Formats: sequence, structure tokens, C-alpha cells
Amino acid sequence: MTKANLVTAHTDDIPRDNPCAQCGTPIAQPDWIEPGEGRVSYLWTCHACNYRFEAVAIFPHRAIERPPLAA
Ligand SMILES: [Zn+2]
Repeated sequence: MTKANLVTAHTDDIPRDNPCAQCGTPIAQPDWIEPGEGRVSYLWTCHACNYRFEAVAIFPHRAIERPPLAA
């Protein structure tokens, strides 16, 4: 197996069924998850109206794991 060089979100808190900000249709899961410092950005795409929006979850008491930098 080859090792995939992808960013993976280390969180169990992936929101689901987030209502579309425009038409209210529940979206099963975010298209893209981008972990940041103390926060995670979720990109949602509504398949009913093609509206895209971003939601940010803040985790003030949780450190996001980062891979150590190679020396
Ligand atoms: Zn929509």
C-alpha cells in the first residue's frame, strides 16, 4: 500500500445533517474538513441548490494534533 499524503481530521466531532444556509436542506456531511489551530473548518455543499458555505468549529480546550516537523 502506498501512503496517502492527505490531511486527515483527527476529530470525532464531524457535524452531520447541517441545514443548508440558503434553502434549509439537511446536508449529510461536509465536503471538506480543514483542521486549524484550535478550530476546524467545514465546507458544506448543498446538493439541492448548489449553495456552498463554510462553518467553523472552535475547540478552545483541545489541541489539534500536528505531525512533528522533520529535523
Ligand atoms: Zn440549499
